[in-house]
Amino acid sequence: MNLDDLVFHPWAMQGPRDVPTLVGGSGSHVVDDGGRRYLDFGSQLVFTNLGHQHPRIVAAIREQADRLCTLAPGWASDVRGEAARLIVEVAPEGLGHVLFTSSGTEAIEHAVRMARLFTGRPKVLAAYRSYHGSTTTSIHLTGDPRRWASDTGAAGAVHFFGPFLYRSAFGSATQEEECERALAHLEQVILLEGPGTIAALVLESVTGSSGVIVPPPGYLRGLRELCDRHGIIYIADEVMAGFGRTGAWFGVDHAGVAPDLMAFAKGVNSGYVPLGGVLVSDAVYELFTTRPYPAGLTYSGHPLACAAAVGAISAMRDEDTIAAAARLGSEVLGPGLGELADRHRVVGDVRGIGGLWSLELVRDRVTREPLVPPGATGAATAPMAAVVKACLERGLLPLVLGNRLHVAPPLNIDDGDAAAGLAILDEVLSAADAHAA
Ligand code: PMP
Repeated sequence: MNLDDLVFHPWAMQGPRDVPTLVGGSGSHVVDDGGRRYLDFGSQLVFTNLGHQHPRIVAAIREQADRLCTLAPGWASDVRGEAARLIVEVAPEGLGHVLFTSSGTEAIEHAVRMARLFTGRPKVLAAYRSYHGSTTTSIHLTGDPRRWASDTGAAGAVHFFGPFLYRSAFGSATQEEECERALAHLEQVILLEGPGTIAALVLESVTGSSGVIVPPPGYLRGLRELCDRHGIIYIADEVMAGFGRTGAWFGVDHAGVAPDLMAFAKGVNSGYVPLGGVLVSDAVYELFTTRPYPAGLTYSGHPLACAAAVGAISAMRDEDTIAAAARLGSEVLGPGLGELADRHRVVGDVRGIGGLWSLELVRDRVTREPLVPPGATGAATAPMAAVVKACLERGLLPLVLGNRLHVAPPLNIDDGDAAAGLAILDEVLSAADAHAA
């Protein structure tokens, strides 16, 4: 009997699966039950920013487990306080407090609740082509209604188009034009919805699962100004972009802006123990010094998860992981993936920054028709399923979403492993080229 058949799998067709059973790992590799090694080229779901079994994180968890495994959020905890201190230290100015959650989804839920309590307004703006989580509020903010086809939609979620030159909603020819038009469009949406009804705007600082879309220079600054002008709380979703993934501590750092609330998870402790949270501005924090915050989670600030965060953030500082991630993007993945795009007609676009990249695969570079249609399931996904299979056969764990091959290895991957991964993708794309005109 295959025990994996007893597991109900998220985001998946149920039934027997043809995937390796992973039992071990180290650094950028994982190992299956037959002893075969795989290069983890997507950092699982873009969260093992420091790779697998990093000794500093493992030791921190072990030491905490020996001392005190768990504690309710109502009591003060040394390790929780230390995690908050380290997180606040690397966050943008003015975000001085942390509400801990156990996931990115919960962080978004709480950020939205705080914004509604703070402003007294109901609506929340979010971009098409975004992912914010999978509970009721967060999935309805997620800007891909195909993901929640069975639901009716949550009251108050309003979508707008963000800048995305490759598939521009505005017909722009340049990034400057795209930025200008996207900001003008956003202002129109705000004015038509009525600024007095909008509590918050939530945006991934670099769009992750929906396509790795890096905002053009000036966009986040313009968006911050619009929020300020209309009294809207700016929630930065840094669940994927945060903690070094883009070659800065946070995606907003590239633009030099600070949001009012910032959701994080994943890279905060490389996902060794589930942890997320919301960084809260001083102004929002102030409100809850006069009235209680009316929500919480049993495992908020779980000691083992916080210990893992202390280990991870300390290691990132000591090992200069941010600089390594920036170099990974500018010297290794950027040029390497650019070469693959030059060589393979199936690659329509290469996008990314730091350690977060995506190859968009198309049937035709001119029409930009995706290799598999948006929202496709079953047989229609065969060309991308073949990409996954070809990667696994060559010892690489890929991260495939829709018609895109995301490339997001651990930020501390060594150059030899990165080159080996790119060489595998080169072979895999040669086979995929057969589908492209
Ligand atoms: N926001 C973003 C930007 C994400 O990438 C994710 C997870 N992929 C989430 C929110 C939800 O996080 P979680 O799966 O931890 O609930």
